[in-house]
Amino acid sequence: MSDTIFTKIINREIPAEIIYEDDSVLAFNDIAPQAPIHFLVIPKKPIATINDIEEEDREVMGHLYFVAAKIAKDQGFADEGYRVVMNCNKFGGQTVYHLHLHVLAGKPMGWPPYQDTLKVE
Ligand code: 5GP
Repeated sequence: MSDTIFTKIINREIPAEIIYEDDSVLAFNDIAPQAPIHFLVIPKKPIATINDIEEEDREVMGHLYFVAAKIAKDQGFADEGYRVVMNCNKFGGQTVYHLHLHVLAGKPMGWPPYQDTLKVE
């Protein structure tokens, strides 16, 4: 797959508010937060979408959730609760084709997330 903006963030070619990093994942604050706390957890390997996950990616996919919960505990909102979302392709609302876990927190969130169908091309 071709590089996205997230590869540039991993390589420090563009700035981001990085809140966690290890050998296989990076977490940083979303540039357009949809909740008082909104960060993304991404694999360093550029997997485009959920549909592109391979057998060898099983460990890092689980690690994304582990890191999300670790940050939630470290930042003190784990018990209050939060939402994790991974969008896939056009109907899922994906805009950056380097898969990522959204972590949203700091306010109660309604369900279902959309009352209306998204408008897509
Ligand atoms: P998606 O729509 O693909 O599920 O989510 C992409 C997310 O990446 C959006 O929430 C968007 O605000 C965020 N985003 C896009 N470009 C940048 C950027 O350059 N920096 C940061 N920190 N977030 C970005």
